[in-house]
Amino acid sequence: MSILVTGGAGFIGSHTCLNLLESGYDVFVLDSFVNSSPESLARVKSICEKDKKPKRDLHVFKGDLRNASILKDIFTKANEINKKIDGVIHFAGLKSVKESVEKPILYWDANVGSTINLLNVMQSFDCSTIVFSSSATIYGRSSKTKLKENFKLKPINPYGSTKMVIEKLLNDLFVNYSGSWRVANLRYFNPIGAHESGLIGENPKGIPNNIFPFLTNVAAGNLEELRIFGKNWPTIDGTGERDYVHVMDLAEGHVKTLEFLINNGPQCLSMNLGTGKGTSVLQLLNIFEESNSLKIPHTFVERRSGDVARLVADNSLLKSLLNWYPKRTLNQMCKDGWRWQVNNPRGY
Ligand code: NAD
Ligand code: UDP
Repeated sequence: MSILVTGGAGFIGSHTCLNLLESGYDVFVLDSFVNSSPESLARVKSICEKDKKPKRDLHVFKGDLRNASILKDIFTKANEINKKIDGVIHFAGLKSVKESVEKPILYWDANVGSTINLLNVMQSFDCSTIVFSSSATIYGRSSKTKLKENFKLKPINPYGSTKMVIEKLLNDLFVNYSGSWRVANLRYFNPIGAHESGLIGENPKGIPNNIFPFLTNVAAGNLEELRIFGKNWPTIDGTGERDYVHVMDLAEGHVKTLEFLINNGPQCLSMNLGTGKGTSVLQLLNIFEESNSLKIPHTFVERRSGDVARLVADNSLLKSLLNWYPKRTLNQMCKDGWRWQVNNPRGY
């Protein structure tokens, strides 16, 4: 079977491509490399080459998802080599909340415009299975209880709005095309860590916004200190609480979801992808320091605008439907993420 992975060179995409290849799929990647490097996929290939498993093909195309002709070329090429694309995992998009507030039109174009293009081309090539990278951001507000998929969606920034509207669009396809579409919206919580080889990992361009790459860069001496955004949140120790999930567990969740869609009838699912366990910033910091025998300079600063106290997944749907369980501990996430940083001080 062949899968098109949009944004496959990125952080989550590269780990998922590896898992797809190891699970026996041929993979076609379309990426503009606007926030990644082709080197990530070269590394994915080299990890696969060390495996004893049967080899699968990885085809990489450079291009923007808003360009229909390159998408059509990929589907056509796949047909010509007898590898018709059976499904799509759709990661490509911009993901900075801050940038989305400054440039909402760019975000609607890059995320929603590109998805409309993708869906049009998929339809014309008779491909109607898609796993979409959604986000816990669409819930919009903090919750003392774990977030359930049926909670009201109320994104508070343009990035979150684009994710919510794509979910709605996909639901419209399922409802209005006599049930031919197989759709899964995966609402990620906070993916961190890296593949255990230390060969692929998170490589944001510029100063990281997210806590984990910021933390590893402070540990490496590239940044001076971790600034903790707020110490009076209504959480266990006053710092923000999140649900951190190992990127390889997340990647495995995609392959299980894809297989569920392929093996079952048309449907439109929305599922939380997190561990169900909340961790505060201070707890994460302590575990990172203990796991790696390091000390991280840190200071408390004002709350970050648009931040929320607590986002933790109720992951019971994914567990019961897919039999997916997060296997890796926070300790492992910290060790694997640090190994990636140490081995690749300048990223790819
Ligand atoms: P990433 O930036 O590392 O990966 C996105 C990839 O898409 C990059 O390789 C980028 O070059 C590519 N891309 C962006 N716009 C493109 C376009 N128009 N055409 C072709 N390629 C394009 O991000 P990631 O962390 O791997 O996230 C993947 C997806 O998951 C994103 O859609 C993101 O919004 C979503 N997500 C991420 C997180 C997170 O914390 N990392 C959380 C929730 C949701
Ligand atoms: N955070 C922090 N300092 C940073 C980055 C993040 O204290 O430099 C906190 C942030 O306030 C939140 C948690 O770490 O409580 C996770 O933030 P991140 O941006 O990684 O994820 P998101 O807020 O998008 O869930």
